[in-house]
Amino acid sequence: MNQTDIYLDHAATTPLDPAVLEAMMPYLTTRFGNPSSIYAAGRDARAGLDWARASIAKILNCQAREIVFTSGATEADNLAVKGVAWKHRLQHPDRPGHIVTTAFEHHAVLHSVEYLEKFGFEATYVRPGPDGIVRVEDIAEAIRDDTILISVMYANNEIGTIQPISEIGKLARERGIPFHTDAVQAAGWLPLDVQALNVDLMSLSAHKFYGPKGVGLLYVRRQTPILWQQSGGAQENNHRAGTENVAGIYGMAVALQRAVQEQEARTAHVQALRDRLIDALLTRIPGTRLNGDRELRLPNNVNVSFEGVEGETVLLNLDMHGIAASSGSACTTGSTEPSHVLTAIGLPPALATSSIRLTLGKDNTAEEIDRAVEVLADTVARLRKMAVVSAD
Ligand SMILES: *Cc1c(COP(=O)(O)O)cnc(C)c1O
Repeated sequence: MNQTDIYLDHAATTPLDPAVLEAMMPYLTTRFGNPSSIYAAGRDARAGLDWARASIAKILNCQAREIVFTSGATEADNLAVKGVAWKHRLQHPDRPGHIVTTAFEHHAVLHSVEYLEKFGFEATYVRPGPDGIVRVEDIAEAIRDDTILISVMYANNEIGTIQPISEIGKLARERGIPFHTDAVQAAGWLPLDVQALNVDLMSLSAHKFYGPKGVGLLYVRRQTPILWQQSGGAQENNHRAGTENVAGIYGMAVALQRAVQEQEARTAHVQALRDRLIDALLTRIPGTRLNGDRELRLPNNVNVSFEGVEGETVLLNLDMHGIAASSGSACTTGSTEPSHVLTAIGLPPALATSSIRLTLGKDNTAEEIDRAVEVLADTVARLRKMAVVSAD
């Protein structure tokens, strides 16, 4: 096996920051107690958990008890969408209930809504514009008298486009409808103040901002109608049973703190690299199209289509050169279906399957970007030549 020398898939996952690992170590070794135990070792673990909750609450500008730790953002998204829906069903068994979401959500939201449709809930999947931005007017138009939940992601994980969350939140509040946002890709790049964002529910995942995998959270504004989904012990204020992932939660808090402290510097660094990459690809490789708005996108996201070549083939060639990138969502790798995100912004299937996503991180360098451009230019030119030869 060749190894990865240049990692350009930070939207799929980020490496664990060594400083975060160091901060987690005591909770994986000496401070191993169960935070629900009353003796010293338990109290040590509890102190770590309490510190993490308070520290994250400060960053989100919410109360500590409004944070529910989960196994990641998939669980947080499921809990938000299904929790609100089932609470409605419990209170109003005779009223189906309608959900407004978008056509290019992460599958954790999309498949949760589809699951609820099997139980009689109704849903509207609002389409983003060709620029990858959802229009507030389109959300307003989709709302019905029986709408029980709106769920719109903060930034898209494939094309990086940033959604008008605060405006949608304002609209949701005016109509008295709970509003959820999947903010996984925004963390570390965009403000996470839940008051300014006007959100009632917000999902985060630690491994997207240099924290460990398998831990995340759902912010739940008090008074939000929700039926808790995980039954068992009294952990998480009776909201999510199961012994807490103390080391993971502590690591997530440290990683988030570092991401916020370094947000400006990290943003300046990756945004310069992103622009260098976009400019080079558009000028060096004919028939290249940037997917998603150029300005209203995450500072680390590049998503491009190369006319006439298969994205998957390009990725295999990149991998042979030790460069890691992806065709969009890591969860759909291996499937030949065109991306639901690229389809939602109106790309024809041929162009959608010609796309790759390069997502940058704080430790990438200009040399790495230049190397990736060289390999991409060579690869695309070679694949196009082969296509011409085989067509002759
Ligand atoms: C990665 C991701 C998820 C899933 O998070 P996990 O913690 O890996 O379950 C959900 N939503 C978005 C937008 C993501 O990028």
